[in-house]
Amino acid sequence: MGRFTLKCLKCGSEYGQTYKLTCDNDNALLRADYVEKHLELRAQPGVGRFHSWLPVQEELRTEAGPITYRSEALAKELGLSNLYIGFSGYWPEKGALIKTCTFKELEAHPTMQLLKESGGKAIVLASAGNTGRAFAHVSALTGTDVYVVVPDSGMPKMWLPEEPTASVHLIRMAPGNDYTDAINLAGRLANLPGMVSEGGARNVARRDGMGTVMLDAAVTIGRMPDHYFQAVGSGTGGISVWEASLRLREDGRFGTKLPKLQLAQNLPFAPMYRAWEAGRREIIPDIDMKNAKEQIEETYASVLTNRAPPYPVIGGLYDALSDTDGIMYGITKEEALEAKKLFEDLEGIDILPPSAVGVASLLKAVEAGKVGKADCILLNVAGGGVERLKEDLTPIPIPSVATARNPEVPLEDLIEGIEE
Ligand SMILES: *Cc1c(COP(=O)(O)O)cnc(C)c1O
Ligand SMILES: [Zn+2]
Repeated sequence: MGRFTLKCLKCGSEYGQTYKLTCDNDNALLRADYVEKHLELRAQPGVGRFHSWLPVQEELRTEAGPITYRSEALAKELGLSNLYIGFSGYWPEKGALIKTCTFKELEAHPTMQLLKESGGKAIVLASAGNTGRAFAHVSALTGTDVYVVVPDSGMPKMWLPEEPTASVHLIRMAPGNDYTDAINLAGRLANLPGMVSEGGARNVARRDGMGTVMLDAAVTIGRMPDHYFQAVGSGTGGISVWEASLRLREDGRFGTKLPKLQLAQNLPFAPMYRAWEAGRREIIPDIDMKNAKEQIEETYASVLTNRAPPYPVIGGLYDALSDTDGIMYGITKEEALEAKKLFEDLEGIDILPPSAVGVASLLKAVEAGKVGKADCILLNVAGGGVERLKEDLTPIPIPSVATARNPEVPLEDLIEGIEE
């Protein structure tokens, strides 16, 4: 009995339950259409609770999952009466047990499960650091081969809460290459026989895994929030919660109004912020990310620096913002650092730089009156608890198996490195 079909958002073509990233006819996103129209929570400790709307057959048993709690201290500071925090990271006192400390692990578990159920053997992905860590962790748990391409700036983020296994193949890119160079090299590796691309926003399991942040909030609060805050680099998280909200609306028990997406990028590198402000579906590199490489080097939250985000694509972030009457913010490093300190002092948990950018955007929104004081607000703290984790265990660095000078290096060089 099928659990879902994949539907093209442009031409309506339907595909079966398989690992598929693109429609055969066009370039639009595919979306999972689930047989279950009502969210029926499963008795699993983590993300597997939301099995109804995850594109896998077997229920996920991992304890890693999103948590939602009502803020007291930060809410009071901001004068908000209904501020909820969605926390993806490590904070056992709150039941948050994501040991790689970001919401990327919410996508890694269903993606690797779908890969396995579709007969795939190895997955390739590019990462600014956090996605790679999440997939390496699931690889270490399951033994499925993962090839991760990471720019040099992402290397400090490549650690595991356990001993790395031989199934984790980490390819480092030499300094001077950024996240988008890593994406280009990973794209070439994915064309090799036996390899499957993780696919970023095109990966339905990624989106529906990340969408569980919204599902968890809705079942905790009892309704969809009025506003959703998150810092974005690719915008996949924004697309994901929008899609989750569409399903919750169809379910009928969580309200009919879609949460307003209020998303932030970190200045100076903020192509989606600039394109959205200009009212454009297209990102124009000469206007929206002039001197991209220098801008990226100056950007504090480096995981937010994607030069080719799924913003214009049908079903992508432009559509998500349009459908929810969304807002985007440009946040400076100083604003992020101030917000980080405020959040950590008041809520009592350390957060990652992109989450600080998200908190800063909430502060801005409150100041600018973009939220009402009594509105129901969900702030997605998509990464945190690394310092808290270090109280309980010692992160182990993942060794790289090869270094790529640039995205065009002969793959034999890397494969030799891999096979050594
Ligand atoms: C990846 C990441 C983001 C950005 O997510 P997208 O929705 O894919 O742009 C934000 N915060 C953290 C902690 C992340 O790891
Ligand atoms: Zn199509």
